[in-house]
Amino acid sequence: MSRLVLVANRVPNPNDRGATAGGLAVALKDAVARRDAMWFGWSGSTAEATATTPEIETRGRLTYATLDLGREDYRRYYQGFANGSLWPTLHYRLGLSQFDRADYAGYRKVNAAFGQALAPLLRRDDLVWVHDFHLFPLGAELRRLGVGQRLGFFLHVPFPPAGLFCAMPRGAELVADLAAYDVIGVQTEEDAVNLRAALVAIGQKSAAARVAAFPVGIDAEGFARTAAKAASGIETARFRQSLVGRTLVLGVDRLDYTKGLPQRFCGFAQLLARFQQHRQRVTYLQVAPVSRGDVAQYRSLRRELDEWVGRINGQHADPDWMPLRYMTRAVARPTLAGFMRLARVGLVTPLRDGMNLVAKEYVAAQDPADPGVLVLSRFAGAVAQLPGALLVNPLDPDEIAEALDTALDMGREERILRWRSMEAGVREHSAHAWCQDFMAALEGDGPTAIAA
Ligand code: ADP
Repeated sequence: MSRLVLVANRVPNPNDRGATAGGLAVALKDAVARRDAMWFGWSGSTAEATATTPEIETRGRLTYATLDLGREDYRRYYQGFANGSLWPTLHYRLGLSQFDRADYAGYRKVNAAFGQALAPLLRRDDLVWVHDFHLFPLGAELRRLGVGQRLGFFLHVPFPPAGLFCAMPRGAELVADLAAYDVIGVQTEEDAVNLRAALVAIGQKSAAARVAAFPVGIDAEGFARTAAKAASGIETARFRQSLVGRTLVLGVDRLDYTKGLPQRFCGFAQLLARFQQHRQRVTYLQVAPVSRGDVAQYRSLRRELDEWVGRINGQHADPDWMPLRYMTRAVARPTLAGFMRLARVGLVTPLRDGMNLVAKEYVAAQDPADPGVLVLSRFAGAVAQLPGALLVNPLDPDEIAEALDTALDMGREERILRWRSMEAGVREHSAHAWCQDFMAALEGDGPTAIAA
């Protein structure tokens, strides 16, 4: 069996296992378990200059090859172009995108450095699988260095309509770079349509045929077990006690402007104002750990949310009832799984999201005999696998309020029916299936479209 080489901006820490491992590491766990494999990418540390030869660490059949990034390269490539320009554009927010030629040069420089460091490590029959928007040009860099191995690329975030993406300076150049890959995976059929159109528009018709949707999933059985166990643990018990019989609405997101948090808070305020029967009866907990706190837009979002929380609680609270609880630090995964099981409503309303794993985790965490209701943005990639969710337009706070009202009043029979259809979708489109389908395409002659 040929060796699998996984390339990502952040390589999982070999010492992180189980509960502390990041999403990508969990999803790819199966792929690396049964064969020789290598992770390649940034070490997570910065240095004076970007390293030219990687640090190598071997654990059984798995090798970790990582590079420190120079501080200036990190700032230009990662904070500047990847997070400041590409991230908003790929999430349809061109107005938030800040382009700077020096950032773009840094992005290309780091991709070239990755290519230079990786190429000598490759064996003749390796399969190379590159992850996400940090590394669009890596395939083209490797080809320039004479790498002839099969190269796959997976984009974890959305791909917007071609006209929007190519309005970003150098957008067309990045699309052209994708043509170097043998398989180009995206999360949804809509992303596939958009990316194919972008490739066709720049004359890369044959590359357009190599684009296919592979919806990423979770380990549903594992998450369900974690949730069931945590639900009878001490932390969930303390939390339940503090609710004094009130119904829980739960939101769990990184603090990011793509997650639609101000609109969501506004929707909750509308619920309290328009559907007064829920006053005193519902508690909404939003867990939103700060991310990318060094980028200006994230800092101003945080201030905006602080204001919303103060306004909503100031306006609607009673001495014995605080409608909105809000925390900006991370919560351990098992604890979160227990909270999800406790919540009658999972509120997931991103303005745009590649997939949104929280929505799938919420479904997996439910008690089959008395499941909760998922209120889900129609602009989350996960919609295709979650037919039983109450769909909302996340830009319309009134629609969010109405869906919350419906969810809070929904009887058990309907909740069970809706949950069963979603649970089936989450189980079928597992992390394991995602990995297998992509690998089959990469090992075979090209992508087979996966029906969502
Ligand atoms: P994104 O990748 O944009 O952050 P996803 O919903 O796809 O969004 O994935 C987020 C992952 O991070 C999920 O597995 C989720 O459980 C986890 N996560 C999100 N918020 C928290 C938190 N507050 N504490 C711990 N884990 C979190």
